[in-house]
Amino acid sequence: MKHRIVVLGAGYAGAYVAGTLARRLSPADTEITVVNAVPDFVQRLRLHQLAAGQDVEAPKLADVFAGTGIRLRVARVTAAAVADRTRSHCGKG
Ligand SMILES: Cc1cc2nc3c(=O)[nH]c(=O)nc-3n(C[C@H](O)[C@H](O)[C@H](O)COP(=O)(O)OP(=O)(O)OC[C@H]3O[C@@H](n4cnc5c(N)ncnc54)[C@H](O)[C@@H]3O)c2cc1C
Repeated sequence: MKHRIVVLGAGYAGAYVAGTLARRLSPADTEITVVNAVPDFVQRLRLHQLAAGQDVEAPKLADVFAGTGIRLRVARVTAAAVADRTRSHCGKG
């Protein structure tokens, strides 16, 4: 049976851990899904530049994860039932 890993949030932490797991684990027995509220990778460290009127790149998460085998769901998580190992979400995805 495949292990299913769900990463909630694709900021610096979530994007990094999903990428690291994808590199280290075999897709034959692992399925990694990332759920993020928006389709872009928001670089929080650069938001002050955006506020000051500079152009700040916001890469598409689909491009960030392309070729990694990571499944992306753009949706806002509303609850996580840890004991049941499930999550609820609304929005696209
Ligand atoms: C102006 C600024 C400058 C900073 N400078 C530094 C610095 O110099 N050094 C430093 O170490 N740190 C700095 N920080 C802090 C750093 O940005 C944060 O520590 C870092 O972004 C935290 O990363 P994270 O992945 O935990 O969360 P975030 O980057 O906040 O990512 C969370 C992700 O989860 C998603 N999400 C949230 N709620 C939901 C939901 N319900 N459902 C689905 N998705 C959801 C969001 O869309 C987002 O993509 C700075 C922050 C700011 C704002």
